[in-house]
Formats: sequence, C-alpha cells, structure tokens
Amino acid sequence: MKTTKIHSALFGVAVGDALGVPVEFKSREKLRENPVTTMLGYMAWNQPKGSWSDDSSLTFCLAESLCYGFDIEEIGRLFVRWKKEGYWGAHNEVFDIGGTTRYSLSRIENGESAMFSGNFFEEDNGNGSLMRILPLAFYLKEEENINIIYQKVKEVSSITHAHFRSVLACFIYIVYALEVLKGRNKFETYIQTKAIVNDFISNKDFNQKEIQLFDRILKGNINELEENKIHSSGYVLHSLEASLWCVLTSSSYSETVLKAVNLGGDTDTTAAIAGGLAGLLYGYESIPQEWITVLARKEDITALCDQMSKKYEITTNNKFIANKHK
Ligand SMILES: [Mg+2]
Repeated sequence: MKTTKIHSALFGVAVGDALGVPVEFKSREKLRENPVTTMLGYMAWNQPKGSWSDDSSLTFCLAESLCYGFDIEEIGRLFVRWKKEGYWGAHNEVFDIGGTTRYSLSRIENGESAMFSGNFFEEDNGNGSLMRILPLAFYLKEEENINIIYQKVKEVSSITHAHFRSVLACFIYIVYALEVLKGRNKFETYIQTKAIVNDFISNKDFNQKEIQLFDRILKGNINELEENKIHSSGYVLHSLEASLWCVLTSSSYSETVLKAVNLGGDTDTTAAIAGGLAGLLYGYESIPQEWITVLARKEDITALCDQMSKKYEITTNNKFIANKHK
C-alpha cells in the first residue's frame, strides 16, 4: 500500500486514541503498577479492542471536510452528524462527548453558524479542539503567511472552543506539525516552533497573562521537566504540554504513545495528540502492524487518507522518514 504523511498522521491519532480508551481516567500510580503495553479492549468504556473515540471521530470529520476544501460550515455540519448519528464513530455511535463540544454543536443544530457556535469562557478550555485539529496542517502546508495560519486555526478551534487559550494551544500544535512536514527532526522542530510562535506573539496585542501560561513550552524546554511536573488532565494546556513532552522524550511511535497513555488521566486524548505528531515524525510504517490490524474501521480510515492524499498529496517513502528521524 502506498502511504503518505496523511496516513501517518491520521493513523497516528487513531492508534494512540484506541490505546488510551480502555484506561481513560486511570491514575498514573495505578498505571505504573500495571502499565499499558499494547492494545486492550473493554474496561473504561466497554468498547472492543481497537476502538477509538471522539478525538479520532472529529479528526476524521475534519479530514473528510477538507477533502472538498476549507468550509467552516461544512466542518460544523459533519461534527453535528457525528453527534447526532455517530457519523465517523468507531462503531457508528458516540460513546463520549465533551461538555463544551456538546453545547457548541447543539447551537449549530439549532441554526447557529459554525463561525459563532463555540464556547469562549475560561472554563471552556478542555482539550476538545486540540484533539481534532491535526488534519488542518495538510490544508495549511503551503501557506507562508503566519497570520492566515493563525486565523484558520482559530476558526476551526472556535467551532467548539473559542477561548484564546484553546486557540493558541492549537496554533502551537499546528505550527509544530507544519515544521515536521518540512522534514525537521523533533528537536529542530521544537526550536523552530518556539521561534515562530514567539515572533508571532510579539507583534500582537494578546493578553500577557494568557501568554505567560505557555511559558513552560515557549520560554523553557518542556522536555527537560521531570515526569512529575507534567500533568495529563483534560485541560488543553496540560494536554499540549504532556503530548509535546512525550514526543520530545521518546524516539519511536510506540514509545511516544505508550508513554502518553501511561501518564494516566485523559489517556486517549494525550495519546491521540502525541500520536498524530509521532506518526508524522516516524511514518506510517513505524506504527506497530498488530495495532493497525485490530483498529476499528481501518479500511475506511485508509480510504479517507487516500482521498485526502489526492487533494493534498505529499507522497513519502516512510522508510526514509523513519530513518531520517531516528
Ligand atoms: Mg476521547
């Protein structure tokens, strides 16, 4: 099978998600006693082995919509189809949905435009937009204007999560993904991402208190922190920090996602966010075949990746990518 970076990213998200689903909400201490080392089934959500959750469903809805170009209302429409019908559900149903996402999508169902549907209070900073934003990197990969990149990220996050903190978290993540797409390794990418984002911020009139919340990522070196300083709740800032920490302190796809899952807490989402970047860094072929084999709807995901690759193609020899980043 010919695969592209789109396969690497989307399978990277879904496999990480599915590894985390059975142990969602488990504490780090419990997982330290009995760590996840491979794909499991049932437990937390009573889903069979290989079942991914809302993170991947909404990622696939965004990816599918982008196959036809960038249309916020169309993205919102597919998100609502997921909420109502389980469209792009692992088993064609919804078994988990975040509060902010539920409220925002209900607004669209009731006739609101997806440009104005998102929640924007401080408490609406769960990781619900960060976990589904990655396909946007493929739409933006040729874009050189950083203001347009920020604006598009803002629009897609704000369908559900419109607070600045969620938008900035998504922006940092997408800038990182775009730098990986240029062929940089994980550390070069981190240095470059900090330079790009800090420069962008310095030219804007953003709330400094909000900016300072990102200091551990943008001013320090998040990878140098000890594990006990890394939180893995469903808060967007925790999820961004934890996923970058897992990416930067690991040297393979499986090490990255298993580390993310075993941090505990919002296991599926940390692993989905980290897994998308790890997929991009190490390539589709670095994802253990036994995990892909048990993944729900793997043929449908492949077809979606093929379709998206036709539109935003960057064909890669994944072996080359994997070697390059070892
Ligand atoms: Mg989930």
